[in-house]
Amino acid sequence: MNIILLGPPGAGKGTQAARLQAERGMVQLSTGDMLREAVASGTPVGLQAKAVMEAGELVSDAIVSALIGERLDSADGGGAIFDGYPRTQAQAEALDLLLAERGTSLDAVIELDVDEDALVGRICGRFSCARCGTPYHDRFKLPRQEGVCDVCASTEFRRRPDDNEATVRTRMAEYRAKTAPILPYYEARGLLRRVDGMAPVEEVATQIDAILNSAEDSTSA
Ligand SMILES: [Zn+2]
Repeated sequence: MNIILLGPPGAGKGTQAARLQAERGMVQLSTGDMLREAVASGTPVGLQAKAVMEAGELVSDAIVSALIGERLDSADGGGAIFDGYPRTQAQAEALDLLLAERGTSLDAVIELDVDEDALVGRICGRFSCARCGTPYHDRFKLPRQEGVCDVCASTEFRRRPDDNEATVRTRMAEYRAKTAPILPYYEARGLLRRVDGMAPVEEVATQIDAILNSAEDSTSA
């Protein structure tokens, strides 16, 4: 089972990817992490990438493809969750080829769909206890006693500076620009599935599992 998981920051992609790794033995392949690991462990592709980055140049598609091939060859067989890749149609075609060379293919492209205004509301009201980290929200979850943490009674709270409307909207626009080139490619091939990313976490999980199970059935049929 190989999937691409798409979703803007704040849509809960990390939570779902972590769950799929734990429950299904899938491996999340994020190109940024893979690049850092390959460079650190000195694999052949890592050394190549290191030289390119040290020269201040961008790592080419060919290197990224080689890197993914390296990781697919060493993966355990639970399947891969591609995160942050592909970004262009050329990369999407390269990924198809990489998988085909290994006798496998992409089973689904799952996008966590969000309502931008609702996402802004969800992210912007977030704050947490400065001492124990318990999360709160201006609209959805205030401390029972105003200004006092429910868990540890601390009276200090903190907000992340990037949890503001302008930043959320910028990240959303970046996400749309990055995924726009590949969505039509996968839609045309009937692989694109949309899941309501604004639903509760468990419901999102149920929807993703239903997609994976039906893809599994059609693969084994
Ligand atoms: Zn606390």
